[in-house]
Amino acid sequence: MNVIETAALGKRYRGQWALRGCTLAIPGGHIVALVGPNGAGKTTLLTMAVGLTRPTQGTVTVVGGEPAGSPRALDGVAFVAQDAPLYRNLSVADTLHLARNLNTRWDQRDAENRLEQLEIPLAQRVGELSGGQKAQLALTIALARRPILLVLDEPLSSLDPVAREDFLASVVAAAKQDGISVVLSSHVLAELERVATYLIVLARGKVHVAGTVQELLASHGAGLEEIALRYLRASVPSVSRTEGAA
Ligand code: ATP
Repeated sequence: MNVIETAALGKRYRGQWALRGCTLAIPGGHIVALVGPNGAGKTTLLTMAVGLTRPTQGTVTVVGGEPAGSPRALDGVAFVAQDAPLYRNLSVADTLHLARNLNTRWDQRDAENRLEQLEIPLAQRVGELSGGQKAQLALTIALARRPILLVLDEPLSSLDPVAREDFLASVVAAAKQDGISVVLSSHVLAELERVATYLIVLARGKVHVAGTVQELLASHGAGLEEIALRYLRASVPSVSRTEGAA
């Protein structure tokens, strides 16, 4: 099953293409690192996949062919946006309550267990949590929805190294225990190298490479960070290497 599939996907804002001709097939069962320079179109791609932004052209389906934004797609995909937007004035418990009311497949026990392990008190106001705790709360809410696909847009950007490590460990554990597929955009290549099993490099609104880390390591003879950097540095047009990329 492909967790995200796009065909000639494009988005234009005020006459400028943020993403263009994006054809991708991301197989399930991976932790996918989506990397690219600022303005590459990562957020644009992810928000179209989760149904928050409408494509200008092309199509995008998720979790095995469900059109992005359709009820089945919304049910199967959890999204944590950049800077994990949460209501500062609510308590952690009220935040869970709100999320529970909005989600039919909500797993309250899982959410409370995770927060207990993380020592995040239910009574605490969200505005009083640290950046790392807020990111973990947003991740907890996403996981308690029991998604097939978890989409994280730059979740590491505001976290210190220890919080990054903890956050990624939580993502890896959830992917393993619950069989969740993950797509994660980030600029933090060194950390991604430790967790990613699939790499997509996006630059200037185009996919430059997409493939399993195993295949890429074998064909490039370099580590994931080095491979990503090579593609990021390259200013040549699309050099897609594996099936599904264009
Ligand atoms: P970053 O790494 O900086 O977060 P990104 O790869 O996520 O960047 P996008 O946020 O998808 O890139 O932006 C791609 C392009 O589309 C940029 O040129 C950006 O200015 C433009 N863009 C994105 N959203 C909008 C919008 N709502 N209105 C107008 N232009 C937009």
